[in-house]
Amino acid sequence: MGAVLKQLENDHVRSVLLQFSDLEGKPKNVAIPTKQMRKALTDGISFDGSSIQGFARLEESDMVLRPEPETYQIIPWSDEKYRVARFICSVYTTRGEHFTGDPRYILHQQLEKAAELGYTFNVGPEMEFFLFRMVNGHPSVELQDHGGYFDQTPTDPGEDVRRDLVTSLSEMGFDIEASHHEVAPSQHEIDFTYGNALSMADKVVTFKFAAKTLALHRGLHATFMPKPVYGINGSGMHVNCSLMKDGKNAFFDPEGEHQLSDTCRHFIAGILRHIDGITRIANPTVNSYKRLIPGYEAPVYVGWSAMNRSALIRVPSSRGKSTRAELRSPDPTCNPYLTFAVMLAAGMEGVIQKLEPPESVDKNIFRMSAAERAAEGIRCLPWSLHEANTALMNDPLLCSVLGQHVLAQINRIGELEWADFSKSITDWEIRRYLATY
Ligand code: GLN
Ligand code: MG
Ligand code: MG
Ligand code: MG
Repeated sequence: MGAVLKQLENDHVRSVLLQFSDLEGKPKNVAIPTKQMRKALTDGISFDGSSIQGFARLEESDMVLRPEPETYQIIPWSDEKYRVARFICSVYTTRGEHFTGDPRYILHQQLEKAAELGYTFNVGPEMEFFLFRMVNGHPSVELQDHGGYFDQTPTDPGEDVRRDLVTSLSEMGFDIEASHHEVAPSQHEIDFTYGNALSMADKVVTFKFAAKTLALHRGLHATFMPKPVYGINGSGMHVNCSLMKDGKNAFFDPEGEHQLSDTCRHFIAGILRHIDGITRIANPTVNSYKRLIPGYEAPVYVGWSAMNRSALIRVPSSRGKSTRAELRSPDPTCNPYLTFAVMLAAGMEGVIQKLEPPESVDKNIFRMSAAERAAEGIRCLPWSLHEANTALMNDPLLCSVLGQHVLAQINRIGELEWADFSKSITDWEIRRYLATY
């Protein structure tokens, strides 16, 4: 504790944000003056869990936040005269037990399980997002630029936001691998160098919060909504993943087919087996399913490939310590802790049971006819939040990973969301039916 307090003093931190995520992965925080940190580190800070989405448990609504010292970061865009820092927190009950609904703890448990077998789980997420204009102080879907993939639009405020983001995130200890304009107008991508799944999930949450704040500083709105505009690409959060064992990449085998190890194939097989349930977690909104359609570089069919990009799981060409499998279905509205937790559990089941994946699909699946796909046994991902939710509820492995409390909340949130959407009358329906009937 002494070291943390000393650091805060040396950095002239005046105020500390204690951050955590709700079940939907939305960042929450409470600000405390630095002098309260001693108490936060010893007793924790209490809050009302019943007001947090997915935490609700009225009979024991008091909960406790405990800052994780290794997550300390100065907020680079805070005023130098009034330095703000943050810690990511774990959530405890007042009896001092881990709260079973804390997404960070759920991931932590899966990582521990993998560690018992000698594995570390590394992920490298690719964050896609749109930068739209603010209109009369409100977010809009008005495009900010008309650039495309890798375009340089030098005088554009969107480029400035991306540069601000990369600068600030680097100051916060992020290792940024690349940042570029994406295919759609006003769409951008920032890729993180891979790391341990827990710290990467922390980074995803921090990243979203930074992107929104820094965009606003330049009068723009950063959105992670998967499909904000009809007819152009949506935003994904591809997750590159690999296992390490004995300090080596366990997915690499110079002798294996495609230089991939048995472990890699088994891991892929595990994810494919559980992908329907994973989809509920990795694609948690009604809008998520408007991205998972043919024609926009998002996956639709269940399959893997060492060659082509249309597959749900792609194995990028780099080998050696960069050998990895890229799951392309997740979108940035997912809760990264839960997404990495279910991916790991599914993959590890594959490793433990030595599951064999189906043959790698090395043609462009989107150009295959429905009959060709059926002949190769290629299924579709769930079409809707409702379908994915049902799949999750019927997947005993993923249910046990999430635990009863989280599962009940996810089911409640998913079904409510679906029911509300089903009742709503969309612009599309008005255009389609109002005049013709
Ligand atoms: N935006 C696409 C998606 O929805 C991906 C585009 C790309 O990175 N090639 O997943
Ligand atoms: Mg990319
Ligand atoms: Mg991309
Ligand atoms: Mg990618």
